[in-house]
Amino acid sequence: MSEAETKRVLRLGLTGGIGSGKSTVAKLWLAQDPGIALIDADHISRGLTAPGGAAMPEVARLFGVDMVAADGGLDREAMRRAVFAEPAVRGQLETLLHPLIGQAIKAEVEEKIRQGAQRLLFDIPLLVEGKARWLTQLDAVVVVDCQPETQIQRVMQRSGLDRQAVENILAAQASRSQRRACADVVIYNDPLSWAELTQQISDLAAHFRL
Ligand code: ADP
Repeated sequence: MSEAETKRVLRLGLTGGIGSGKSTVAKLWLAQDPGIALIDADHISRGLTAPGGAAMPEVARLFGVDMVAADGGLDREAMRRAVFAEPAVRGQLETLLHPLIGQAIKAEVEEKIRQGAQRLLFDIPLLVEGKARWLTQLDAVVVVDCQPETQIQRVMQRSGLDRQAVENILAAQASRSQRRACADVVIYNDPLSWAELTQQISDLAAHFRL
């Protein structure tokens, strides 16, 4: 596929803190716009270390077979222990995964375009944290925003984690102002009813279809 062919497609980034409603917005958007395809960065990234994942031979070589679970995927608990004992291990894993994620995303983009996608919605939880890498590749960034207290309540309800655990996750993520500074469009998903949220996404999808 030529570069010109892949460049004609509109690329939208979608991001938001945990519990902001980013996945919900992505689902609503896909339902509103048949010409848009989802590129789910987390899903792609997890697939690399799933059983049979492209990163697994290198994981075994670099970190040892102790990091490989019985099913052939990454032993996430063993990796957590290794990172706890030696924080530099996290960086080594990221260095290994980074180029593979880039390749896998590129392959998926080409596949979606081959299948006829006219627009791509990149669901990227850490878009703002990795903005140097992402912003140049995107035509516009949509941020789903809400009050931290709303995020905490939603995530506690969804995951069963306690307040402190959720607050720790929030503290490790980009702040609201850092996220909004990268945004071309902000969806403020706090007091919104489903009908209002659906309407906003419908308007946004129509805007980007033009
Ligand atoms: P994220 O992908 O940002 O972590 P989700 O889209 O999974 O967040 O949403 C977190 C939870 O909040 C889900 O249970 C979702 O159904 C709920 N939610 C999202 N937006 C709203 C809203 N406007 N009103 C009520 N609940 C919402």
